[in-house]
Amino acid sequence: MSIKGVGINAYSPRINGDIELLERDLSYFKKIGFDYVEIPVHGVDGVINGKLNLENVKRVKEVLRKYNLKAAVHAPNPLNLRKDNLDLQEEVFQSSIEFASELEAKVLVYHGGNFERRKQEGELQNLASEREIRALKTLGELADKKGVQICLENGASSIEKLVTMVREVNRENVGVTYDFGHAFLYYSCHGGEKEFLTSIKEALPYLKHIHIHDNFGRASMTSQDASYISRLPFGEGDLHLPPGMGKIPYEKIFPLIREYKGIAMAEIDPRYELFYGGIIKRLHKYIEEAHIPFQSPT
Ligand SMILES: [Zn+2]
Repeated sequence: MSIKGVGINAYSPRINGDIELLERDLSYFKKIGFDYVEIPVHGVDGVINGKLNLENVKRVKEVLRKYNLKAAVHAPNPLNLRKDNLDLQEEVFQSSIEFASELEAKVLVYHGGNFERRKQEGELQNLASEREIRALKTLGELADKKGVQICLENGASSIEKLVTMVREVNRENVGVTYDFGHAFLYYSCHGGEKEFLTSIKEALPYLKHIHIHDNFGRASMTSQDASYISRLPFGEGDLHLPPGMGKIPYEKIFPLIREYKGIAMAEIDPRYELFYGGIIKRLHKYIEEAHIPFQSPT
């Protein structure tokens, strides 16, 4: 069991299809000392109308090679297998798997259907959830052939729900992305730190990827609708701060994930770019203090 390197997200609203900007960011990430970068499919126009955008895939591959960075991939944020237009959702999902495979990324992050804002209730919710599970079984097979692990990320709902879904899909290559920031916000209104730490243990057998960032555990993710600068003064919502800047008890978290073997992936708002060097040091400190072996990929 070991951590395979530290990574940072390329931020989709910032890149917004500009591969030259991606190149500039990647050169900075490399200089700072990251091993991995999480590439958002939607941030680099990786898929257009359900189809892989081969030209951009080629350009992204070249940039990764140039800076000797390994990739994880984040599927488009709105991708949702609970929506009514399932055929199109599946097509985008398949192309996202191919995108990950082209980049030799083992990890493809997908927000489990709990991100659906239009709340489905009762029977409808069960049907949507069953449909998502069925689709994930099929997509899991394709991902397997391409050497990709589908990692369902928690949003504004319980880890228990996500783990139940992963258990029902029941495939080795469909597991959990535990996003500590999202879970900390959720559990701040649902049982507090004790429940938060328990949920980490619950996810552990299925844990394939982690997202590390910080916040103050204040208000639910619904406040995401307000702009960043109007939330920050009040410390509200999902702020994606560098670890240590908010209240998430990472010193207690890392000792719980000694069995995790994967990337320590930071997912930070790029306004904190100047602190990225400090983030690497801090991640290494958490890893060392928890006595987790560290294996650099290069
Ligand atoms: Zn995340």
